[in-house]
Amino acid sequence: MKKVVIIGGGISGLSTAYFLTELAREEGEALDITIVDKKDSPGGNIITVREGGFLIEGGPDCFLSEKPWAMALCKRLGMEDSLLATTTARGKTYVLSKGKLHLLPEGVILMVPTKMVPLLFSSLLTMWGKIRMGLEMFVPKRKSTEDETLGSFVRRRLGKEALDKIAGPLVAGVHGGDPETMSIKSSFPKFVEMEENYGSLIKGMIAKMKLMKGSARQGQAKKSAKPVTMFMTIKNGLGDIVDTLLGKIKETKIIKATTVDNLTKDTDGYTLKLSNDETLKADAVVISTPAYATSAIVKSMDGSLSEKLDTIPYVSTATVSIGFKRADIAHPMDGFGFVIPKSEGRKIMATSWVSKKWAGRAPEDCVLIRCFVGGAFDQDLVELNDDEIKAMVLSELKSIMGIDAEPVICKIFRWRRAMPQYTVGHEGRVAEIAELTDKHEGLYITGSAFRGIGISDNVREAEAVAERVLERL
Ligand SMILES: Cc1cc2nc3c(=O)[nH]c(=O)nc-3n(C[C@H](O)[C@H](O)[C@H](O)COP(=O)(O)OP(=O)(O)OC[C@H]3O[C@@H](n4cnc5c(N)ncnc54)[C@H](O)[C@@H]3O)c2cc1C
Repeated sequence: MKKVVIIGGGISGLSTAYFLTELAREEGEALDITIVDKKDSPGGNIITVREGGFLIEGGPDCFLSEKPWAMALCKRLGMEDSLLATTTARGKTYVLSKGKLHLLPEGVILMVPTKMVPLLFSSLLTMWGKIRMGLEMFVPKRKSTEDETLGSFVRRRLGKEALDKIAGPLVAGVHGGDPETMSIKSSFPKFVEMEENYGSLIKGMIAKMKLMKGSARQGQAKKSAKPVTMFMTIKNGLGDIVDTLLGKIKETKIIKATTVDNLTKDTDGYTLKLSNDETLKADAVVISTPAYATSAIVKSMDGSLSEKLDTIPYVSTATVSIGFKRADIAHPMDGFGFVIPKSEGRKIMATSWVSKKWAGRAPEDCVLIRCFVGGAFDQDLVELNDDEIKAMVLSELKSIMGIDAEPVICKIFRWRRAMPQYTVGHEGRVAEIAELTDKHEGLYITGSAFRGIGISDNVREAEAVAERVLERL
C-alpha cells in the first residue's frame, strides 16, 4: 500500500487527508495516510472553546461565502444544517476617527463606495476625502502590470484618506498587515481584476453586486435555500469542521504532539525524522506547515527551496475575547464592530461585537466582544502577559465604548508568526517555490502562505493537492 505522510494537521492537512481518502475510495485504491502535528490536538489555528455558556473562537471565526470551497466542504461533510449566517446580511461597521466611532458609509464594500449619497453624508471623511473617493470612476487604469503595494494602489485609485481611514484598518487589517508592503496582486487580486476589466473599482463592484443579486434571486427561487451572508460560520463553532473531518478520516493515523524535524529523499522514497526520535517512510509527502516551518523541514534536502520558503514573512497577533453582563453595557453595539486606523495610535486593531454578529455566542444576559491586538505595527504587544493584555484591552474599550464593567470571562489566544504576509513580489516567490518543489517527485507544499490566507483558500488548495498526489502516486 502506498504511504502518504501529511505534515501539519490544520485545516489544510486535515482536508488534504479527507480529499485523498475520498478520491482513493472512488478509484478503489487503498492508501496508508499519516498526519504528524506539533500540537496535541489537530485543527491548527482553528480552536473553539465553550465555557460558561460562551462560544469563543480563538483563531478564525468564519469564512467568506464568496469563496465557495469551505461551504462546499461543509456540505460534503453533511454539515449543511450547521452553517450559520450572520444575524443580518450587512451589519454596520464603525471606524474610529479622532477618538470617536463613525459609521463606515453604507454601500462601502471592503473599501469601494457603491452608493454616493451615504458617502456624501458620512461623518468619517472630509469633504475632499469623499470627493476623491467618488472621483475613482474617472481615474485612468494603470498601464503597468507590475505588482504594487496596497498602499500605492489605494492612494492612486481612491485617495490617501480612503487608505488611512478605510483600506488600512479594514482591508490590510484582515491580514494584520502593513499596506505599504502588502502586494495588491497577491493579497487582493479581485481589485486588480476590477481595475483591469472595468477601468474602475466602483464600476467593477457595482457590476459584481448586480451579478450577486441575480444569483441570490435564483437561490431564493429554490425552496431549500438557506440564508447565505458575506461571512458564514458553523453553529457550534469552526471546531466542528475539525471534529467532523476527523470522523471522516478514521483510517488516517494521527501522530500528535510531535514535530517533523527533517525530511530526506533516497531511491525508495522519503524518510521523515520525528522529534520523538522515530522515523517514518513515505512515497509522497504533503507539507502544510507555516512557510518558515516548512523551510526548516526541507533544509537538509534542498537548501534553495528552504531559503525561498523562508522569505515569506509572518506577523503575530492575539485575539482577546471578553464577555460582560448585558446590563453592564450602555453602548448599543448596533453592528458587527469597529476598526481602528493606525493614525489613532491605539493598542487594539479592531473589535468584533461577536454576540451581535452571530447567534448563540453568549448567554442571553451577556455580550461577547473580541479584540485584535498586534499585527504588523504592534507585534510586541502580543508578548505582554495575560494581565497586561487584559488591562490594556479593557482600558481601550472604556475609552472607545465607555465600558467600565468587570468582565465575566476573558480568553486570550496568542498567534505568534501565524499570519503570512503576501508582500510585493509574492506571486514570483510562490512560482519559484512551486518550481523548486516540483523537482522532488512526490513532494507537495501547501497551506496559507502561498495562494490565499483564508480557510476557503486552504480547502481549495487541499483538494488540488490531493488530486495531484493521487494522479502521480
Ligand atoms: C487570529 C487569526 C484569525 C483568523 N481569522 C480567519 C477567519 O476568520 N477566516 C478565515 O478564513 N481565516 C482566518 N485566519 C486564517 C486561518 O486561520 C488560516 O487560513 C488557516 O487556519 C490555516 O490553516 P493551515 O492548516 O494551512 O495552517 P495551520 O492552521 O497553521 O496548521 C499548521 C499546523 O502545522 C503544525 N506544525 C508546525 N510545524 C510543524 C512541524 N515541524 N511538524 C509537524 N507539525 C507542525 C502546527 O502545529 C499546525 O497545527 C485567521 C488566522 C488567525 C491567526
